[in-house]
Amino acid sequence: MELTHIAKTVMEKRYLRLKEDGSKETPEEMLRRVAGVIAGVEAQYGASKKEVRAIEEAFYGLMDRQDFMPNSPTFTGAGTALGQLSACFVLPVGDSLVEIYETMKHAALIHQTGGGTGFAFSRLRPAGDKVRSSQGVASGPVSFLRVYNASTEAIKQGGTRRGANMGILRVDHPDILDFIESKADTTQITNFNISVGITDAFMAALEQGTDYELINPRNGEVTGKLSAKLVWDKLVENAWKTGEPGVIFIDRMNRRNPNNHVEVIEATNPCGEQPLPPYGSCNLGSINLANFVKNPYTAQAEVDWERLGQVARMATRFLDNVIDANKYPLPQIAEKARRDRRIGLGIMGWAEMLVQMGLAYDSDEAVALGNQVMTFIKQKAVEESMALAEARGAYPEWEGSQWHKAGLKVRNATMTTVAPTGTISLFAARPDLPCSGGIEPKFALVFTRNQAGAVMLDVDGQFATIAKREGWYSEELMQQVAERGTARGVAGVPERWQQVFATSHDISPEWHVRMQAAFQGADGLPVDRQPVDAAVSKTINFPHHASVEDVAKSYALAWQLGLKGITVYRDGSRASQVLTTGDKT
Ligand code: ADP
Repeated sequence: MELTHIAKTVMEKRYLRLKEDGSKETPEEMLRRVAGVIAGVEAQYGASKKEVRAIEEAFYGLMDRQDFMPNSPTFTGAGTALGQLSACFVLPVGDSLVEIYETMKHAALIHQTGGGTGFAFSRLRPAGDKVRSSQGVASGPVSFLRVYNASTEAIKQGGTRRGANMGILRVDHPDILDFIESKADTTQITNFNISVGITDAFMAALEQGTDYELINPRNGEVTGKLSAKLVWDKLVENAWKTGEPGVIFIDRMNRRNPNNHVEVIEATNPCGEQPLPPYGSCNLGSINLANFVKNPYTAQAEVDWERLGQVARMATRFLDNVIDANKYPLPQIAEKARRDRRIGLGIMGWAEMLVQMGLAYDSDEAVALGNQVMTFIKQKAVEESMALAEARGAYPEWEGSQWHKAGLKVRNATMTTVAPTGTISLFAARPDLPCSGGIEPKFALVFTRNQAGAVMLDVDGQFATIAKREGWYSEELMQQVAERGTARGVAGVPERWQQVFATSHDISPEWHVRMQAAFQGADGLPVDRQPVDAAVSKTINFPHHASVEDVAKSYALAWQLGLKGITVYRDGSRASQVLTTGDKT
């Protein structure tokens, strides 16, 4: 492995374990530990010692070449006492105090293992509703959202990483307006992302300009009506102000869930890439697309389909093994994971693949390639899942699923996803070949950093390589790019590279949405042709001066193009931002 400085630091701090002799394992020893545990599963299915060793080598190679990385909990959990390997969970919240606090406890146990949790608060009776046992009134979903947030806050120092949550409320819940407002003050509920669960009925009312019904989940009674337009406008305006709430298209998620014959999805995990049923979980892993270009940066550049196919199949096998190697935090979760065998094979380094292919992110060619690459990975995942089903059996809930109806015997209810890869993309990056998270464009080409009082320039590895190779690299030019926050419009950068080196701020929101749609796939595709069968985590970036109307357009486009959800961020709209470009750092 060839790691960047940041990757080494992050690994050192949180990922490398102490060995028995008290010294820390090396990054290679960490990969060895993970490969050993995950390959060990093969023995359960009758592999000989020699065969297990061969698979272990293959798994080790995937990670050591930085072709593929499993999600963080697999690194931190493999071979440990906790042994929890998944990043994504959804827990049900029932409409009683016992159930509410039971689930809060379960969430704490999951956070302790580095997993993130999502919840729908939609089953809770609205604020002010009757409570028979105490003859009092209910405090409603938003107040319990705050309680859950406080619990996460209190325990977040203890675990491997600070807890992350997603809170969902259906748009037809009587408390929906309070929910939409609940994070207007950006100092509140900071351990949650929130999203509104948008129904088909709501979208129909919005299109027709009519009211829609609010329903009390306690008894199914209609408690009132609201104008769909009014709610949509409020939602969009808040998203413009603070980035929240996001939306998820809940009926679409259920319609397109291959496993919808046995479960109803109410929520997603924290970053939105996994729509999951109650007690559902998913372990993720992502392929670094930057490693799969032949003849990079030339007119002959092409995707290395053959190697990509091999890696996608081996990664699918790896993730299926994780399900058996995993120690689950709750019996209900273990049971559900084994019945559905969900895995989440995703990608990262998409921006870096595009640069090597000479394509600008905001181009029709890039959007078409995105769809082609993800459809191909899905196809390979299905092939491997079918081979595994042949050898080890289809997943127990397979009968009656969309897979079954399509005549495809598979081992995994869902296979593909696009995760943010916040940490593992660091592990996949090399000094001269960075790896942007998921399908995000590069955030910036030149960062400025204050180090001991001196301003240092951090130049993107690909940008620096090309500039030096072609002879237009200079500190001055890099300084200019840093100040502008983009190469576009900087005279010293050749026109072609100005286009290809698109950063998130150069790219219009519409192209962001179109790219997300290319990976997600449209409504109505056969189950094996949906490029992503879970969902895509992505941020649609807006410049600070974008209008509320601009945000509204993106939300509408997201619905039109078949997205399962959308999250926006307008530059400067929240006080703290992890990364900033140009002279703001
Ligand atoms: P990584 O790169 O560390 O594997 P991602 O950034 O891809 O993780 O996030 C994947 C999922 O992992 C998230 O959607 C969420 O479910 C979970 N997750 C991420 N960060 C945290 C966190 N700080 N605490 C708990 N769960 C998290």
